[in-house]
Amino acid sequence: MKTVNDFDFAGKKALVRVDFNVPQDEQLRVTDATRIAAVKPTVEKILNDGGAVILMTHLGRPKGENTDKFSLRNIIDEVSRVLGREVIFCDNCTDARAQELSDKLQPGEILLLENLRFHKEEEAGDSAFAEKLSKLGDIYVNDAFGTAHRKHASTAVIAEYFPENKCFGLLMAQELEAIDKVLHKGEKPITAILGGSKVSTKITIIENILPKVDNLIIGGGMAFTFIKAKGGNIGSSLVEEDKLDLAQQIIAMAETQKVNVYLPVDVVAADKFSEDTETQICDAYEIPDGWMGLDVGPQSNKLFHDVLLSSRTILWNGPLGVFEMKKFAEGTIKLGDSIAEATRLGAFSLVGGGDSVAFVKQFGYDDKVSYVSTGGGAMLESLEGKELPGVAAVNS
Ligand code: AMP
Repeated sequence: MKTVNDFDFAGKKALVRVDFNVPQDEQLRVTDATRIAAVKPTVEKILNDGGAVILMTHLGRPKGENTDKFSLRNIIDEVSRVLGREVIFCDNCTDARAQELSDKLQPGEILLLENLRFHKEEEAGDSAFAEKLSKLGDIYVNDAFGTAHRKHASTAVIAEYFPENKCFGLLMAQELEAIDKVLHKGEKPITAILGGSKVSTKITIIENILPKVDNLIIGGGMAFTFIKAKGGNIGSSLVEEDKLDLAQQIIAMAETQKVNVYLPVDVVAADKFSEDTETQICDAYEIPDGWMGLDVGPQSNKLFHDVLLSSRTILWNGPLGVFEMKKFAEGTIKLGDSIAEATRLGAFSLVGGGDSVAFVKQFGYDDKVSYVSTGGGAMLESLEGKELPGVAAVNS
């Protein structure tokens, strides 16, 4: 795996694909600059070598239309503030002006190009568009893990035009190493925790990780399909009736592969899907009719805690309950505590994919786990065992 550390950027222009698809408020101010801060080490390395940086990214879903709302003009100040450097802006990414600004760019300077997705050729993976972009820089750097699962012009196709001069940025390298550390080089025992609403969206992940892990903890809404498949009464909890056979097959597969599967033993049940409801703790296999499990109960947390504290490698994706409602957040909070404690005692813990990242940030666990992935979809596809187009293009 080649990274920016394998190149000397002195006198060179690095064309860096970043993922500045940041959240914004109604006034279009950036509300979370994590993705900008995450590429700072890559930018610093290039500038410190005596190179210049050309940043290209998408923002939102403008679908090929040039709209003020999705303009990168709105985030220039924040990019400049977070990177601690002045940023030159070009209101296009492939026209003559972009070429002119790139030609004039001096070592130590940063040029930010306008939203790539103002051109429909970006998402279409158009070769002519990728070639035009490629003319702007000498070395192509991909530091956009968040879009690495897309085969777009700037994330994958463009790499063809830099047969020798292409590499990963430091964020991308960190993300790939974290996944590798869990899926290929993980110290045993390895425990994966999968939560979230549905089995159907996680099935490929389960199939891919089963041969690699020692323990699989299943929580969230998806646990009830397994509990019902094992003969439990789940009341009106979330269930995918058409996945009951599949759940049984997964349990059998786990047994053959000597993977311990841990399901909730008790749940916090409610009589309606609302914060404003009665709750009771009951056996996960004997939920009364008309009641639904919306969080795991204290005995489940205790069981999961013991498994986690004896693990050396931990992978977590998906909440154990409906954490958006305070009443049903406790199970996921306790899980976060257990993972934090295991990490403090020396385990490697990786949190990734959609809601679990939002959760760790909201509840302040982000500096208590070993690594929090910046890519939702890209992380999930990596866990599914798929080779990401943005990674393959740089490695080929
Ligand atoms: P996913 O996008 O599949 O990772 O699912 C995340 C969602 O699962 C969150 O919005 C949670 O509220 C939801 N969830 C977690 N546990 C349950 C449950 N027991 N019943 C219904 N939804 C749940």
